[in-house]
Amino acid sequence: MKYYSTNRQSPAANLEEAVIKSLAGDGGLYMPERIRAVDRDVIAAMRDKSFQEIADTVAQAFFGDDMDTQSLSDIVYDTLPFETPVVHVNDRIYSLELFHGPTLAFKDVGARFMARVLSYFILRSGLDREVNVLVATSGDTGGAVANGFLGVPGINVFVLYPKGKVSPIQECQFTTLGKNITALEIDGTFDDCQALVKAAFVDGELNRNMQLTSANSINVARFLPQAFYYFNAFAQLDKAGKAGNLVVCVPSGNFGNITAGLFAHRMGLPVKHFIAANNRNDVFLEYLRTGRYRPRPSVETYANAMDVGNPSNFARILDLFGNSHERIAALISGYRYTDEEIAATMRDVYRAHRYLLDPHGACGYRALADCRLEPAETGLFLETAHPAKFKETVDRILDIDLEIPAKLQEFMKGEKKNVALGKDFGGFKAFLMK
Ligand SMILES: *Cc1c(COP(=O)(O)O)cnc(C)c1O
Repeated sequence: MKYYSTNRQSPAANLEEAVIKSLAGDGGLYMPERIRAVDRDVIAAMRDKSFQEIADTVAQAFFGDDMDTQSLSDIVYDTLPFETPVVHVNDRIYSLELFHGPTLAFKDVGARFMARVLSYFILRSGLDREVNVLVATSGDTGGAVANGFLGVPGINVFVLYPKGKVSPIQECQFTTLGKNITALEIDGTFDDCQALVKAAFVDGELNRNMQLTSANSINVARFLPQAFYYFNAFAQLDKAGKAGNLVVCVPSGNFGNITAGLFAHRMGLPVKHFIAANNRNDVFLEYLRTGRYRPRPSVETYANAMDVGNPSNFARILDLFGNSHERIAALISGYRYTDEEIAATMRDVYRAHRYLLDPHGACGYRALADCRLEPAETGLFLETAHPAKFKETVDRILDIDLEIPAKLQEFMKGEKKNVALGKDFGGFKAFLMK
């Protein structure tokens, strides 16, 4: 299968190139030329299948042309030794808990899958130089990517994070691992980290000297596997007789997660409507209302993994719907919440239903509560991270002392190692070159 660039100026690539390069030469994002449908009978039969079996079916539809069938299955089974359960919160609202992986956030699925696919292509192509993954993080991505790629031969990972701006729990998930993971503490903001990564990708000298790639959701092997758990959630609700009129709500930042859901829908997954829930960074909502897309600098909020002012996957959404605002607005609605609303939602749901929301999931829950589901509809929001990942915020809002899961405590025991760098590109480049 060929992958074309959303900017349509670069030649089409095969999967191997798209995964190794991440971004097309013209700055566009790669899109598969065709999206293969999954038969209705196959989707209906998923209610009696395991998460791994479901994911394997979806993975073969996406990547089966370009990878050996058995190797792809092995990668799927190895990526998903954990569940993504659907939990009833109240009335017709369900939570898809995506935080049962190693770093307790949904990005674990895509990061682990991408690491294994990249390694498969490095081996198959006989690439004789190492691949360097650059990843800028505001907190969650760094841990998921570092853990997904830990110990994978032929790949080095550099995690760039803003000094003093990620929580201690998040920081230790990528600073204590060692091996092929290097944590770079940048004296600047998340935007500075992202700017350094972008500058590296377009620097001629650097790219002649080393093979660089990204593990952000611009990479097709990172965001597409996120379609797996939409099918799995549907299967669980179907089994409970609740999947008839499904409204799926996704707390969104770079819009990789919801784009994977839109791909699942295009493959035939019966979702009636999607909702993108945002914090105060609401450029997408503005686009839905006005038809104009105006990126702007991000503002800090409680739901910091969604503090994005120019969502990278917006280009994919436009492309998927032939640039039609009308078609996009017909399938997707938007909601936005302030920190005060996020906090009030977390308190209300905890008191009334004994369900602990993290600040991102709170936006998702609240949008379903506000959208006035019809009696026949079921609402499903993606709970994108375990609340303990945001312990300081959650404790303060709910006035509790949240227990840190054992998995997270393990990271905190490790020895923290990082390299401190300024935010100038020269220093960063010199570090990479040596
Ligand atoms: C990354 C992240 C998001 C946003 O996901 P996108 O794919 O960037 O839209 C939401 N919640 C949490 C906890 C995250 O880590």
